[in-house]
Amino acid sequence: MGILDKVFGKDKSNTAVETRPCTHGVLVPRWDSVDDIGKEEKATSYFCEACNETFSPVQAQALRDSMTERLPVGDS
Ligand SMILES: [Zn+2]
Repeated sequence: MGILDKVFGKDKSNTAVETRPCTHGVLVPRWDSVDDIGKEEKATSYFCEACNETFSPVQAQALRDSMTERLPVGDS
């Protein structure tokens, strides 16, 4: 984790990335057990590629729900 922060921090140190709240739009599922890899319902945590933050499945679901709500769903 620390290494990634250093690698990406170099290029972004000049920009105002930190002042912009991340929408966590790209959440990558992670699994503790190798056998479960690929089964999203068994993911143990989710990782945001944009800000390197990790979320629990519950948090990830909440983020997805809030993202869906922001989109026009059509006729209600
Ligand atoms: Zn994020």
